[in-house]
Amino acid sequence: MAQWFRLKQQHPDALLFLRMGDFYELFFADAEAAAAALDIALTRRGEHGGAPIPMCGVPVHAAEAYLSRLIRRGFRVAVGEQMELARGRTGKGPIKREIVRLVTPGTLTEDSLLEPHRPNLLLALARVGGRVGAAWLDVSTGLFETETAADLPALLGRLEPAEILAASELELGDWAGRRGPVVAIPSAADASARVAAAFGAASLDAFGSFSDAEAIAAGIALDYVRLTQAGNLPRLSRPLPAGLGREMLLDAATRASLEIARARDGGAGHTLLAAVDHTSSAAGARLLAAWLAGPLLDPAAIAARQDGWTWLLSDAASLASLRSALRGVPDLARALGRLGLARGTPRDLAAVLATLEAAAAIAAALGHAPLATAKLAAGHALARTLSRALAEKPPARLEDGGAIREGFDGELDAERRLRDDSRQVVAGMVLDYAQRYGVAALKIRHHAQLGYVIEAPASAVETLRAHPDLQMRQVMTNGARFTTPELAELDRRISEAAERAAAREAAVFATLVRAVLDEADALAACAAALAELDVLQSAARLAEGGRWCRPHVTEGDAFRIRAGRHPVVEAALAGRAAFVPNECDLSPERRLLLLTGPNMAGKSTFLRQNALAAILAQAGLPVPAESAEIGVVDRLFSRVGAADDLARGRSTFMVEMTETAAILHQAGPRSLVIVDEIGRGTSTLDGLAIAWAVLEALHGQIRCRSIFATHFHELARLGAQMPRVCPHTMRVKEWRGGVVFLHEVAEGAAGRSWGVHVAQLAGVPEATVRRAAALLAALEKSGHAMPAELPLFAGLEAPPSEQEPAAPEPVADPLRHALAEIEPDRLTPREALDALYALKALAAAEQAALESRQ
Ligand code: ADP
Ligand code: MG
Repeated sequence: MAQWFRLKQQHPDALLFLRMGDFYELFFADAEAAAAALDIALTRRGEHGGAPIPMCGVPVHAAEAYLSRLIRRGFRVAVGEQMELARGRTGKGPIKREIVRLVTPGTLTEDSLLEPHRPNLLLALARVGGRVGAAWLDVSTGLFETETAADLPALLGRLEPAEILAASELELGDWAGRRGPVVAIPSAADASARVAAAFGAASLDAFGSFSDAEAIAAGIALDYVRLTQAGNLPRLSRPLPAGLGREMLLDAATRASLEIARARDGGAGHTLLAAVDHTSSAAGARLLAAWLAGPLLDPAAIAARQDGWTWLLSDAASLASLRSALRGVPDLARALGRLGLARGTPRDLAAVLATLEAAAAIAAALGHAPLATAKLAAGHALARTLSRALAEKPPARLEDGGAIREGFDGELDAERRLRDDSRQVVAGMVLDYAQRYGVAALKIRHHAQLGYVIEAPASAVETLRAHPDLQMRQVMTNGARFTTPELAELDRRISEAAERAAAREAAVFATLVRAVLDEADALAACAAALAELDVLQSAARLAEGGRWCRPHVTEGDAFRIRAGRHPVVEAALAGRAAFVPNECDLSPERRLLLLTGPNMAGKSTFLRQNALAAILAQAGLPVPAESAEIGVVDRLFSRVGAADDLARGRSTFMVEMTETAAILHQAGPRSLVIVDEIGRGTSTLDGLAIAWAVLEALHGQIRCRSIFATHFHELARLGAQMPRVCPHTMRVKEWRGGVVFLHEVAEGAAGRSWGVHVAQLAGVPEATVRRAAALLAALEKSGHAMPAELPLFAGLEAPPSEQEPAAPEPVADPLRHALAEIEPDRLTPREALDALYALKALAAAEQAALESRQ
C-alpha cells in the first residue's frame, strides 16, 4: 500500500492502474469510480486504517478496451508498471513499480483508442497581452503546429481538440468539457529554448517566426506530453507556425451550419466530408478533412492541388495503379508514433514494411508524373531488412512470440531450437511414462503455475501415489497432477530456453525499431506524400464522371457558378428525385442575391451549395457544377436556420442576433456572406425591419458578395432601391389548387408567400387551411398592412362559430380527384413529371394528415 500511495501522489487526479501480474488493479476511490464507470465487480482486499480497501481490476490483455471507456468518460489514467520480473528476483519487498505513462484524451497512441479518420489533437493556449497563442500537436502522428488565434472559437471549431490546456481565465465556451488539468506556464524565453532544444536547435527562429504567445503555448504542450509519457518525447515534426492569412476564416457557427465535417446531430453521415471522401487510407481521410477545414487563399497553391488530380485524370493507367497500391496501405504515421514511444508492436513494424512496399510500387508507377513523388523513395534498405526479418503474420504483441522470421538471426534460431527440442523430448515421454506406471490414460500437460505435469484420471490416482518418484502437486475433481524430478529438470531447461529466445527476439525487435526510428523523418514524409496522393485520387474520383468541374480560382472578385448542385442533398435525394442544378452569379454589379420564395422551395439548399462550392474550390477540390469561377473568399459566414440554444438560456432570436452581429463586425469586401431567414424569431414588422437594415449594411458598408434568403417577399420590392441587389425567387407552380416546387432559382421576386399551401402540404386539417386562406385573402384586400390591433380584424369575415366542424367533415378524395383530372395525352414530358411529383405530394400530405389524426 505504501507503494500505491507513493505512485498515486504523483498524479492525484488520475486513476491509478497498478500492474499486479496479469491484472491492472485499482484501489480506494479509484476502484469505486472505475467499477461504476466500467460496470465491473468491486471487491475488497486487506485493510487500511481499520477499514477494508475497495479494489477492482482489469486483465492486462483487455486493458485497452477498458481504458478507452474510461477516457471517453473523461477520466485520465496513470499506468503503474512492474519494472522487474517476478521470477528470479533477489531483493526483498514488493516488486519495483513506476508510472510509465499518463493516459489522457489528448495524448493517445493506440488504434483502439483513436478514430482512424480524425486527428487527435492536444491544444495548448497562452495569452500574452491581448493575443492568444495556440499550439497543437498529435502525439499519434507527430503533427505539431502553432498559430496566433484571431478568433478562438473559430480555431476550436476547426481543430476539434481532444484535450485543451489553458489558464482558467481563458473562456472555452462549448469546448469547456475538453479542458485538461491546470499546468505551469513558462516564460516565453524558457519555452522557446526548451522547444528548440527538443528538436536539436539553438533557437526557435530556426523553424519560422513565432509570437511569444505561440512559443509559450508550444512549451506548455511539449511539457505536458513529456509529463504524460513519463519523460519520453514522442517523435514530433518541428513546430510549424501556421500564421494568419493562409486559410479561409470559417467561424464555429459557419462550420456548424454548413455541416462540413459534422452534421447538426453530431454524426459524420450527412456532411460535406462524407460526400466527397473517396480516400482509401486513414491518413488520406485525415488529410482530406484538414483540407476542408482550412481552405486556402493563395490561387497558386490551390492550382497546384488541382494540377495533381487533373493530371491523374488524364492518365488512367497511372491512376489505376495508384489506387490499387493505395488499397490497404496501413496507418504509418500512427505506427511511427507508437514505435517512437517504445509502445510499438510487431504489427507496427509490419505496417512500416507494407507502407514502404506500397510507396515503392507507387513511385514506380508515377515516376513520370509531375507529382511530388520524390519522398516516396524512402527506406529501400530498411524495407529489405524488414522483409527478411518479419514473420509472414506477426503477432499482435511481442510477448506472444514468433515476430521474427526463422533464418534472420542465428542466435534466436538456436534458442528456439533448444526450446522446441526439449518440448519434443517431453512429448516423447508420454508413452514412456504410460508404460512405466501402467496408466494408459496418462497425459503430459503444461500448466501456467506448475510447469510440465503428468495428469492422471481419478481412477489412476491411487496407483500413481504408490510410486515414490512421483510427487503429487494438485488434486482435481476428476484426477490429479504429478511431477517427477526428470520432468521438473526438463521444464526448467525449456522455460530457460524459452526465456532466452524471448529475450533474444526482443533484442532483435529493438534493433529493428531503432533502424526504423533512425529514418523516422523520411518515413513520416513518405507517409505524408502517400496521404496527399490518396486525397488527389479521391478528388479525381469526383471529377471522373464529368459532373464535378475544376473551378477557376482567381485573385478577382467574381463568383459565377453554372449549374451548381448541393452534394449532400443530391446524395440524399438519390433515386427518389433528380436534383435541379442552379446558376449563381455574384459579379460586382449584382453581388447581393436576394432570394425569396416559400418554405420548402429550396432556398436554404441553394444558399449552402454556393458556400460549399467556395470551400471545395479553395480546398483545391472539384466542385459539383458545370463550371465555376471564384475570386478568393477570405472569410465565409453562413447563418442557416435559427437554432435554439435553450441550454444556455438564449432564445432563438438572441442567437440569431448574436450571430448577425458577428457577421457585421467581421465581414469585409472579399468575404462571402450567406444569410438565411434573418429576423424569423421575432414579430413580423420587427423581423422585416431588421432584415432590411442588415441587407442595407451588407450592400452599402461591407460590400461583400452575399446571398440573402428571406420569406419576407416584401423585401424584394424594398431591395429594388439598392443597385447591386439582384432579386431572385424560387420558381413555384400552382397546380390544381396546390403548389409544386420546381427548385429553380429565377430572377424576379416572389409575389406571395404560399404559406397556406405549404400548410396544406404538411397535412394541416382541411378546414383550418380553408379558414387561413380566407383570412389571408381578406387581409390582402384590406390594404396589405399587418393588423396592429385586434379591432382591425373587425372588418374581416367573422370567425367560424365554435360549434362548426369539430369533427373533420368528409372530404372528397383529392388524390383521386387530381388523378381524374390528368389527361396523359396532352402533357409534355415536363408537365407529366410535375404531375407525378404533385400526386406524390398529395399522397404524402394525406398520409401525414391520417397519422396526425390517429
Ligand atoms: P427552404 O429553405 O426554401 O425551406 P430547403 O432548401 O430546406 O427549402 O429545401 C427543402 C427540400 O427541397 C430539400 O430538403 C430537398 O429535398 C428539396 N430540394 C431543395 N433544393 C432542391 C433542388 N435544387 N433540387 C431538388 N430538390 C431540392
Ligand atoms: Mg430554409
